[in-house]
Amino acid sequence: LDGPADGSAGRSRLVVLAGPTAVGKGTVAAHVRAHHPEVWISVSATTRQPRPGEVHGVHYLFVSDEEFDRMIAEDELLEWAVVHKAARYGTPRGPVEAALEAGRPAMLEIDLQGARQVRRTAPDAYFVFLKPPSWEELVRRLVGRGTESPEERERRLETARTELAAEAEFDHTIVNTEVPAAAEELVRCMTAPAQAR
Ligand code: 5GP
Repeated sequence: LDGPADGSAGRSRLVVLAGPTAVGKGTVAAHVRAHHPEVWISVSATTRQPRPGEVHGVHYLFVSDEEFDRMIAEDELLEWAVVHKAARYGTPRGPVEAALEAGRPAMLEIDLQGARQVRRTAPDAYFVFLKPPSWEELVRRLVGRGTESPEERERRLETARTELAAEAEFDHTIVNTEVPAAAEELVRCMTAPAQAR
């Protein structure tokens, strides 16, 4: 579709998935990971502690503050942000470049601040906003997840409220009603982004 006429894949386009906290970005990404091995998904570095079941190198690269400082200083991150005033998260640049060069559909699942940075540094990326069916549903999901303390939950809801207003900055919106359907729509954006606009 986007590739050169000789049939080789060429350099692929980067798709950035963002959206408010607890909308299910991680779950949608997990579905893509499980069902679409052809899609490459970036593994972020973070300074937060692993949750039960999270594996270093699979869900995140869990790094120390010192290591994160070093990654910033050596310009190893495509973007990074402090999320929920709690920890730093960033996208290692090298693996993204390698996936795009190899012509693989490539995806970042990051927060809104990060998406805005990528918009500035990689303006030809394709930006997809994942939104909940309703505000009530977002609250229900955040409470239901049960991984945050009440204070942390309040902080994340406050962030989510302002984040929902960012939809207009994106190329495409997906409503996350059912995870498999949302994930398949996302994969279609990755393989035929021009048509999805
Ligand atoms: P969690 O701690 O729940 O795994 O993720 C918290 C938030 O961090 C989510 O909104 C997620 O999208 C965001 N996030 C994960 N990785 C990155 C990253 O590399 N960069 C940025 N800017 N945000 C990220």
